[in-house]
Amino acid sequence: MPSPDALLSSVFGFDAFRPGQREIVDAVAAGENTLAIMPTGGGKSLCYQLPALCRDGITVVISPLIALMRDQVRGLREAGVEAGALTSGNTEEETDAVFSAIDEGRLKLLYMAPERLASGGTERLLRRAAVSLVAVDEAHCVSQWGHDFRPDYLRIGALRQTLGVPLAAFTATADEETREEIVARLFDGAPPRLFLRGFDRPNIHLAFAAKDNPRRQILAFAAARKEQAGIVYCATRAKTESLAAALREAGHAACAYHGGMEPDERRAVETRFQQEDGLIVAATVAFGMGVDKPDIRWVAHADLPKSIEAYYQEIGRAGRDGAPAETLTLYGPDDIRLRRSQIDEGLAPPERKAADHARLNTLLGLAESLGCRRQRLLKYFGEESEPCGNCDLCGRPAEVFDGTEAVRKALSAILRTGESFGAGHLIDILTGNETDKVRQRGHDGLPTFGVGREFDRRQWQAIFRQMMGHDLVRPDPERHGALRMTDPARPILRGEEEIALRKDAMKAAASARPAVK
Ligand code: ADP
Ligand code: ZN
Repeated sequence: MPSPDALLSSVFGFDAFRPGQREIVDAVAAGENTLAIMPTGGGKSLCYQLPALCRDGITVVISPLIALMRDQVRGLREAGVEAGALTSGNTEEETDAVFSAIDEGRLKLLYMAPERLASGGTERLLRRAAVSLVAVDEAHCVSQWGHDFRPDYLRIGALRQTLGVPLAAFTATADEETREEIVARLFDGAPPRLFLRGFDRPNIHLAFAAKDNPRRQILAFAAARKEQAGIVYCATRAKTESLAAALREAGHAACAYHGGMEPDERRAVETRFQQEDGLIVAATVAFGMGVDKPDIRWVAHADLPKSIEAYYQEIGRAGRDGAPAETLTLYGPDDIRLRRSQIDEGLAPPERKAADHARLNTLLGLAESLGCRRQRLLKYFGEESEPCGNCDLCGRPAEVFDGTEAVRKALSAILRTGESFGAGHLIDILTGNETDKVRQRGHDGLPTFGVGREFDRRQWQAIFRQMMGHDLVRPDPERHGALRMTDPARPILRGEEEIALRKDAMKAAASARPAVK
């Protein structure tokens, strides 16, 4: 049986589970009766689709929403999974294709509207079809008191008994009455394993900072947390080694951890981390799967994580004991470039790349956020909340300024030079810096030459970083380092939209001491 982690990336193209998904997937795959309550948009469908692939035979998915079923079937088929739907909207051919896939034992997921259960033919079909799991989406439709009541949902309980297979029910409706009704009607009163957990980890302090001198920033963060167990996530193996060395030099107990190390070396680090107080591990994302230490007091990212899901999973390793824990995530233009090029250079089909870029944008949006970070993070996972009081922006709200003019100047420099140059050269043009390259290309004759002298170089760097964070410019995958304007930037260039930029990021940049090499 392929592992859930392997399937998550190979079939679904995700690099981490969302909050709560992992536990549910494991339980459903193991054949437990489950009731999972997750907010809309939290990622419920994966919690039955993935277990369906782990189990032999067919998973029947009952859902009241025909359009949604068809979408999911299409998505699964594109990912190479045998899935089909029996709905009133089917053509005869579609239905025939589903029947033969069942007869040939190929089908993995069979979507069905509840109305289908009313026909005796369906029961006969399912009896001979080697069904191994029934998943029920929108399980609150079984509640007679709710406004989504679907009488045919009442047949599901009997179906489960006839087939004698486990049942996994999902809903976003959390109130206790509905829950009890679901248990009574779908599970015949025998309580299933219940998953009802908010995603919030209120004891974890959230903070981001623009990457300035990452080594110094991480050392300062660690120095303020002496003798506390922490993890520093790094993007490369080499960096884990050099950071661990720097931390040791600064007097910490620290070691490196990455996938290139021998298995026994890695185990030794895991054991030390588990047993010692106050060890720091500088690690790639390879570190964490097997780590179950409740009192990790801090997690820092020396480089931007891959996605918002990866971010949440990695910071979530801190403070499992519920006591206060702290995090710091550094990010800079190089990270954004790296993550973009990893997506562009990957082998995924275009739609998946577009989705990956969009997910990266969400993380960048969190990094450049103007208001409470937790509120934004939870909203992404489907939970509404109030400002948290436990993130850097709740502590010190972002100061903003109208960046429209600056962004338009930068965009115009990009367009006038044919979208062929990186930020460094563009900043030379904007600040009127007559370098050899500027003169050779005749860029000192451009109307944009020197129009941005009101900001210094570091401030322009902060502006470009924020432009990348807002996805107004993207590195050209074909031309190394060159920045191109994106569609969302057009209305700003045309003067139809304004944009607020963070002042604090620029102040920090301007006041930072020159980098120590
Ligand atoms: P709902 O809980 O509302 O049914 P869906 O299952 O439709 O939510 O998922 C919502 C969105 O989240 C989908 O676009 C899906 O692709 C995405 N998603 C689900 N799980 C993950 C994950 N582990 N990583 C990234 N995106 C995910
Ligand atoms: Zn907050």
